[in-house]
Amino acid sequence: MSYVFTPPAVPSVPVVGRSERFPIHRIYCVGRNYVEHAQEMGFTGREPPFFFLKPADTAVVVSAGETGSMDYPTLTSNLHHEIELVVAIGTGGRNIKAADAKKHIFGYGVGLDMTRRDLQGDMKKQGRPWCIGKAFEQSSPIGPITPAEQVGDVENAEIWLQVNGKDRQRSNVSKLIWNIGETIEHLSAAWDLAPGDLIYSGTPEGVAAVAKGDVLEGGVAGIGTLKLRIA
Ligand code: MN
Repeated sequence: MSYVFTPPAVPSVPVVGRSERFPIHRIYCVGRNYVEHAQEMGFTGREPPFFFLKPADTAVVVSAGETGSMDYPTLTSNLHHEIELVVAIGTGGRNIKAADAKKHIFGYGVGLDMTRRDLQGDMKKQGRPWCIGKAFEQSSPIGPITPAEQVGDVENAEIWLQVNGKDRQRSNVSKLIWNIGETIEHLSAAWDLAPGDLIYSGTPEGVAAVAKGDVLEGGVAGIGTLKLRIA
């Protein structure tokens, strides 16, 4: 096979305890999946889950023990953090039932769904796609993926984020509106899941702005932490 130009490298994430990396196929994100975050965004009630995508090359991959770097993006003056549990798909499928979802999961990671909130808000008001608010350069920082068999009770794990050492978000994965199995059921009804897909499962309450120079550190108990500086 020859190409008219050199194709970009496949984005990939380190795997805890393995030398092989996890190649990213697609990045799916779940919107408003914690009650108190839905409320802070002005919504109530259990609406069906909804999804958006980010290109795989928006991942900022941060190795264990390192501090990653994300450039403050263009066009915004309200860059928000959203700490999220990330589900890494190892086996693809269509119309996966919630009860079977675990068989499709390779592992779990900690991610940030960085958001140009002002642009997202403008698009919402106009009923336009969220892409410019969500799917921009370096908008998907992620730490190493821990294989599922090494992860304990992820469904009841604490999830947290600090900015410059101060708590911003602190909740528990048990507060997901649509749990991991239900999310995979809904997602795989709409798209064919494939090995390498990442699912950012939603963020708890406490989203807020960050500035250049801020250091974000977040984690999910049993899965590790993610540290990122805004440059
Ligand atoms: Mn999010």
